[in-house]
Amino acid sequence: MTGPLFMLGTHQPGWLNRGRAGVPLFVSDRRLRVYKTLPRAAAPWACDSGGFTELQKYGRWTVGPIEYVARLRRYRDETGRMLWAAPQDWMCEPIVINGGVAAGQWFVGTRLSVAEHQRRTVANFAQLRDLAPDLPIVPVVQGWERDDYLRCVDLYWSMLGVDLTTMPLVGLGSVCRRQGTREAGVILRALHIRGVRRLHGFGFKTLGLIEHGHLLTSADSMAWSDVARKLRRPALPECVRAGRHKNCANCLPYALRWRAGVLAAARPAQNGVAA
Ligand SMILES: [Zn+2]
Repeated sequence: MTGPLFMLGTHQPGWLNRGRAGVPLFVSDRRLRVYKTLPRAAAPWACDSGGFTELQKYGRWTVGPIEYVARLRRYRDETGRMLWAAPQDWMCEPIVINGGVAAGQWFVGTRLSVAEHQRRTVANFAQLRDLAPDLPIVPVVQGWERDDYLRCVDLYWSMLGVDLTTMPLVGLGSVCRRQGTREAGVILRALHIRGVRRLHGFGFKTLGLIEHGHLLTSADSMAWSDVARKLRRPALPECVRAGRHKNCANCLPYALRWRAGVLAAARPAQNGVAA
């Protein structure tokens, strides 16, 4: 058993190029859209829609579906090797809905219900699919409590006739800040029992992969950058010697080392779990 495909999150789209990261990456549209000449991907990657930042800052989507789809087509054609792209979904964390300050970040708050976030998430998936049936945009299940997620599975069926149990991949929303917790496991197991088994865990890192990696098809995380910056970790000795930077928040060798550590930590637990 090999465990889920892990995609390294990065703010640096240039890492997609040949001779750079060489591992699967997770890159946000927010970062890619400023490039006139796009990088050419040397490894498979997935495109994040940047929804968390969008809702945090504005409490709504300021990027329209037509605009988003046009950019995704460019990424698919010019960057290449795009495995899939996230929809413009609506996260359901209480802080996203109610607003306030969390981890030093100000959230505007959408002031909508979980049910409305789910309805908008499903409606956006329908819109993107109608605009671009040619693009590999994945549906995302949103919610907060376990039963919310199951209701969201129903909503894809009742609103669109989409059966998530047959989709090649389904994103699991609103878990990144609790990816290592028992709750995340409860939600993942409920979705598996429901037949939704090919899941991508947004923001799953070491703890989440150790605990729940066997229930995921893929996962991404950019936690390495926060670790290097917010925790004021000193730069790698080789970066200090070369006078490269004070911390490694945007450093490829550091990110690759972190990735190797995550994969190594996650491996024994996955091997120990019966399929
Ligand atoms: Zn460095």
